[in-house]
Amino acid sequence: MELQEALHRLEDVQRKLFAYNSAANALYLDGVTVAPKDTAEGRGVALGVLAGERHKIMTDPALAETLAFLEQHKGELDRLHARQVEELGRSVRQITRIPAEEFMAYAMLTNEADDVWHRAKECSDFELFRPVLEKLVEYNRKFAEYYDPDKAPYDALLNEYERGVDMAYLGDFFAVLRSKLVPLIKAVGAKPQPDDSFLHRTYPVQAQREFSDYLMRVLDLDRAHCGIGETEHPFTLNFTSQDVRITTNYKVNDVASSLYSVIHEGGHARYELDVDPQVEYTCLAGGVSMGVHESQSRFYENIIGRSLPFIKAIFPKMQELFSEQLADVTAEDFWRAVNRAEPSLIRIEADELTYCLHIMVRYEIEKALIGGTLEVKDVPETWNRLYKEYLGVDVPDDAHGCLQDSHWSGGSFGYFPSYALGSAYGAQMLRNMEAEMDVWGPVGRGDLSAVTAWLKEKVHKYGCLKTPAEIVQNACGDFDPTAYTDYLTKKYTELYGL
Ligand code: ZN
Repeated sequence: MELQEALHRLEDVQRKLFAYNSAANALYLDGVTVAPKDTAEGRGVALGVLAGERHKIMTDPALAETLAFLEQHKGELDRLHARQVEELGRSVRQITRIPAEEFMAYAMLTNEADDVWHRAKECSDFELFRPVLEKLVEYNRKFAEYYDPDKAPYDALLNEYERGVDMAYLGDFFAVLRSKLVPLIKAVGAKPQPDDSFLHRTYPVQAQREFSDYLMRVLDLDRAHCGIGETEHPFTLNFTSQDVRITTNYKVNDVASSLYSVIHEGGHARYELDVDPQVEYTCLAGGVSMGVHESQSRFYENIIGRSLPFIKAIFPKMQELFSEQLADVTAEDFWRAVNRAEPSLIRIEADELTYCLHIMVRYEIEKALIGGTLEVKDVPETWNRLYKEYLGVDVPDDAHGCLQDSHWSGGSFGYFPSYALGSAYGAQMLRNMEAEMDVWGPVGRGDLSAVTAWLKEKVHKYGCLKTPAEIVQNACGDFDPTAYTDYLTKKYTELYGL
């Protein structure tokens, strides 16, 4: 094989994978946005075929041969191709380690699990979900062994979501969070709560849509390259760095809900749109990892979006659109209301301060389930005990407890910690950003261009040209979770007058 021929094959395979992914994404997007409600069947068949084709491409011996050849000629490759060979080679190795029949059986199981989980959640009946969850845990323990037999099973799974992250890394991280946040939450709890009732007045959806348009302009999201739709659960989907879609959900009695989901998803979109076009149509396109992605969405949502300077900047527009609802409210009232912190039951509704404790509960349970020290049948009891211990709340039923998230039914074990890591990475990026430039002056004028330029330079532009650990190093330096606890302590001390 000639080097040029091998590179040509490499490019060809990646374009095919891009096309299959695009087709699957388009079907998915259609299904959750405009498709009529009883039309899922055909899309399900098509998605199954597309997944099968992608699997065939990835497990084709000819691809393994091409990659092996290129690995032998690594010294002759430029950085772009060397990274493609590294990343695609890794994905191929991971996928071919799982026997094809187990891979297919698992795909069917997660499909079934999603349906069972929905029903179990609806009637708050963990027993209904238990047999499926047992099988999912079993499979994931087996897959962990395939991925890396030298690692503890949960470490092997964590490594699939956030390369380089393991239980030792997370243990240190969560220990710092626990020691600093538990007393901070207690101190906040002893103070009177700000009034947030005005957030729940009636906010007409049409005015909220106009407000979203405004927010997208503030985030500099070019509508020719970034669309916004409406779905039950907001998300971001990227086709290319020229074509990104976000969604939101409008609640008539909760103006903050869509406000912050647009900024959150807008942060994900900002990242995708800023990736260097030279990695387009390759396995290096798009954000590098879930943790780094969340660091960006949460940076815009919490660090910028829930700051007093930013709220002061956008408040005149809010008062223009919601003149009656906000007539007796100041920007500072609004800032206090959207930062109200209180231990609660539901992760996705949790405030910035208590959010990580929700993650820690899930981490402890996953670690024990995959490590084999907790049986599935004991999950509800453990869940409820940990919620009491970490957050001081009583879980009334499994729908508000261990059945609330879809992750396990989708077969994702080891995914949750990325949310907490993302928040912590973002806080450390802020610390570095503040050392280099005036962050809050421009933000106070509604100008995010300097913030976005900094993030583009340190994080966004690379796509997967660097590994997640290299990106974190590039933007944060050595990971230091106290940057995050310091940030929260400062913020909540000011908010609650501690
Ligand atoms: Zn997100």
